[in-house]
Amino acid sequence: MSKVGKVLRRPVPSSAYSWYPSAFGIRQRQLDTLNAKLVNSDPLVKKIRNKQPVRVAVTGGAGAIGYALLFRIANGELLGPDQPVEISAVELPFAMNALRGVAMELEDCAFPLLSKLNITDDPEKGFEAADIALLVGSKPRGPGMERADLIRENGVIFQKTGQTLNRVAERHCRTTVVGNPCNTNALIAANNAPDIPARNFTAMTRLDHDRAVGFLAKKTMMPVNEVNHFAIWGNHSATMFPDISNTTIHGVPAHELVGEFRFQRFWQNEFIPKVQQRGAKIIQVRGSSSAASAANACIAHTRDWCLGTPIPDWQSMAVISDGEYGVPAGLCFSYPVRCQNGGYTVVTDDEQPVTHAKWWYQMKEYHIENNVQELLAERDVVSSLLPN
Ligand code: NDP
Repeated sequence: MSKVGKVLRRPVPSSAYSWYPSAFGIRQRQLDTLNAKLVNSDPLVKKIRNKQPVRVAVTGGAGAIGYALLFRIANGELLGPDQPVEISAVELPFAMNALRGVAMELEDCAFPLLSKLNITDDPEKGFEAADIALLVGSKPRGPGMERADLIRENGVIFQKTGQTLNRVAERHCRTTVVGNPCNTNALIAANNAPDIPARNFTAMTRLDHDRAVGFLAKKTMMPVNEVNHFAIWGNHSATMFPDISNTTIHGVPAHELVGEFRFQRFWQNEFIPKVQQRGAKIIQVRGSSSAASAANACIAHTRDWCLGTPIPDWQSMAVISDGEYGVPAGLCFSYPVRCQNGGYTVVTDDEQPVTHAKWWYQMKEYHIENNVQELLAERDVVSSLLPN
């Protein structure tokens, strides 16, 4: 039987058609035709097409990010201006009063798209029949606390969340993890939800991505949507690899705009520190964390995942690796991905059109390996929480 006649359970990766000519979008059209078969088989995409209410569960609704997030979801910014949503906000018992206040404000907004609002401190009720889960709630690092302790403490929360999602959420539920350390938290949740596909668990590196895009746009005085094909690789930590090797600005490769000679210095001495230290800088200037931009990134990440990445760009998402780029299968690793029909595919080497000197590829390999080592070490810390 030809591939077109098969019922597809997941999007066809573009690597499967790498022998197809990519010129004039021929390969993309072929993939679109194949992936269109997914539309009927994916219940979430079907719900969105039919404009049935989509149930979005959010943890940490009374926190800083949650407060910036819930109103935007209710306003249609997650799934579109004509898509009804049900919000189910889950909090810890001590934060329920604050959450009640948020719920009162949500009611006062009379959002036409908000068809139902539940608030609860019982995760079983909160995640029941969830189509989308946004896991924002997470313990902050206390004074003198080691990163390993934070990973362990939050790990237990995400272990329980994974188990609850497995029991009560929809099998097609898409989960975005924001609470840090988000890669490892997503890994734990995915491993504790054996009946939900692992590829339905992702972690957010979109804020780092958008920060970099914003910085490049400002630097070159170009509109943001002219900056394409930027990527964050690896862990959402200081080790992450912000990759501008394929970035084009108004169609021109970034290294040509910056100048070959200055490219390495610009990337190492200006670009990476700017992206990495942006969060700390905002806390220093504003006096509190970058909650609104984190909420925006959570919306952008999940919206693109469910509704598709704007062509011709890609986005950065930490996903459960299938072994792409030599990353051990099963680690939650940030890659450049393209989303379509409610699924995603990791961008392959041959789709990264700009060619560079050998040192760049060696450096990229080095950084990917660094991230792998860091994530393996984090995985070791929480190994007792990983049943599989
Ligand atoms: P925030 O809402 O500010 O942050 C929540 C999580 O998002 C933290 O892990 C934080 O990591 C992470 N984060 C990711 N990107 C950013 C960013 N750019 N800026 C800030 N944070 C970012 O935390 P709050 O303390 O205000 O609120 C947390 C809420 O979660 C509380 O209301 C608490 O009760 C709730 N909670 C709920 C749980 C549950 O329902 N299962 C479990 C635990 C807590 P980092 O700290 O590293 O910045």
